Amino acid sequence: MKKEINGETGIVGIIGGNINYTLSPFLHNQLLDYYLINNRYLPLHVSEGRLVAAIEGLRALNAKGVNITIPFKEKTIEMMDTIEYSAFRVGAINTIVIKDKLLLGFNTDLIGFKRSLMRGNEIELKGKRAVILGAGGAARAVIYVLCTEGVKNISIFNRTPVKGERIKKTYQGFFPECCIQVFSLKDSCLQEKINQTDLLINATPLGSYPNIDFNPLPDNILLNHRLIAYDLIYSPAKTAFLKQAEQSGAKTVNGCKMLVYQAVESFYLWTGIKPEEKIVRQLIRQLQDKVQQSKIALN
Ligand code: NAP
Repeated sequence: MKKEINGETGIVGIIGGNINYTLSPFLHNQLLDYYLINNRYLPLHVSEGRLVAAIEGLRALNAKGVNITIPFKEKTIEMMDTIEYSAFRVGAINTIVIKDKLLLGFNTDLIGFKRSLMRGNEIELKGKRAVILGAGGAARAVIYVLCTEGVKNISIFNRTPVKGERIKKTYQGFFPECCIQVFSLKDSCLQEKINQTDLLINATPLGSYPNIDFNPLPDNILLNHRLIAYDLIYSPAKTAFLKQAEQSGAKTVNGCKMLVYQAVESFYLWTGIKPEEKIVRQLIRQLQDKVQQSKIALN
């Protein structure tokens, strides 16, 4: 049952640069309807030059909170009044709670990524090796979780290596026991690093709608069956990167579960309600169906 929009309806939403294909409004409005909460979750397209005005506007509009997505997760952290400890260490936020006109920043990608990897998968990360493609806000969250779980060696490959170097500099101080190395996405050692790794993670948007044929891996790269290949992209469900991994016999994971787990945590921060596991499982199924429907609609 839906709550009707009225004079007391609260505003929540997602601020991003290109959010035409986001399924966060679908997830959050499902949760709001299920728990009969008088809020509506809206997509809020914001251009880079208007980001400060948009974030400040949240106070004026008395919004309850927003998610922050690509490409603003790192930029928005400077605009917060308070930042939760792990979000501060990560240097990126994906959730803002507005309380008494104060902006509080959180990073629920951390819990989203961790749960998506650990729940239902018997994955032991301690002592493992990981290769990360990308060094943006999501990569920061992923690398942070891997470090806290005891991954011993992380190779970051990014188009702009200096951004990876910044992550290395900060994280090496927090996690001296983890060896972090940074390379250009075009570096010839990518194949060698992939041959040695346990986890290969795409944290770039390459392969997401509408450019579904894009692959973050250069053409000549070969994958193998010992890998776990994780793509943070959730739509399409099977990116070119995951198709390539599957053909090599690797275990594959897409971003669907992460999206649901991070959404559930943001929902909790805004409402104080922790959705039960059966609701979370239902949301994952609904999201998977929705992704399938969008694929049909877009083809
Ligand atoms: P971001 O902060 O803007 O970072 C994007 C990263 O991708 C940067 O490292 C960037 O490299 C790289 N990149 C972008 N375009 C590229 C291109 N054409 N060629 C090579 N590299 C390119 O974005 P983000 O917030 O980290 O998000 C990254 C992806 O993760 C998005 O697809 C997002 O939807 C997904 N994500 C999914 C979930 C989930 O719950 N499933 C959660 C968070 C994010 P440069 O540093 O060189 O610019």
